[in-house]
Amino acid sequence: MTCRTVNPIKLFFIFLVMFLGLPKAYSQSLEAQFIGNEAFRITDGKTILMTDFPYKSGAYDYMEYEFDFSGTTGTVLSLITHRHDDHFAPVLFANQGWYILGPGEVTVGLPQNRLLPFSEKVIFEPLTIWPKKSTHGNTEHYSYLVDWSGRKLFFTGDTEDLAVLKDLPELNALFITPWFYRKAKLNDALPESKKIIIYHHLENDIVPECLGCIIPMQNEYIEIN
Ligand SMILES: [Zn+2]
Repeated sequence: MTCRTVNPIKLFFIFLVMFLGLPKAYSQSLEAQFIGNEAFRITDGKTILMTDFPYKSGAYDYMEYEFDFSGTTGTVLSLITHRHDDHFAPVLFANQGWYILGPGEVTVGLPQNRLLPFSEKVIFEPLTIWPKKSTHGNTEHYSYLVDWSGRKLFFTGDTEDLAVLKDLPELNALFITPWFYRKAKLNDALPESKKIIIYHHLENDIVPECLGCIIPMQNEYIEIN
């Protein structure tokens, strides 16, 4: 029988990591909860970013969702790519005290005091957002690069414009649709990213050649650091 003794120096370092290392590492990451379609609730514990949400549940036969709106208050920004019902529902937005950044087609008719002025570079709390004009059907559509306290996120929206992927910085997370991922991969146009997160997929979707991609289930949490 062996007797295991705990080395006090080792113990001291374990405590050091517990009390200094872990809380610091934790505070540096964002938590993203997948709601459905292109909707994520992303937070650093203080500011909340809602992407393409609130949308109309089940619109165009895409994902239905259940979401507890009462748990999302405080400093909240809706970041909207285009006006289609599976991305934005003005009626649902009207009931929330959230801010919004989106194309004119989306924000027309919404309360002025909740609109962030659209410009080349938009600053909201710890976020700096660069809207990038891109195409999608006959809509006014934007993809977005977001810098969140140094972490860089890119949201493609529904576009298939390879041009929006050009000249991006190295990303912490790329949010991209399965069809655009395929096209970008074929054209060798994918930007460098620590995480590739597929969105607007179908339940149990298989995305070819997407090894290491995250294909979230509804309500799944993803850590971005
Ligand atoms: Zn869509």
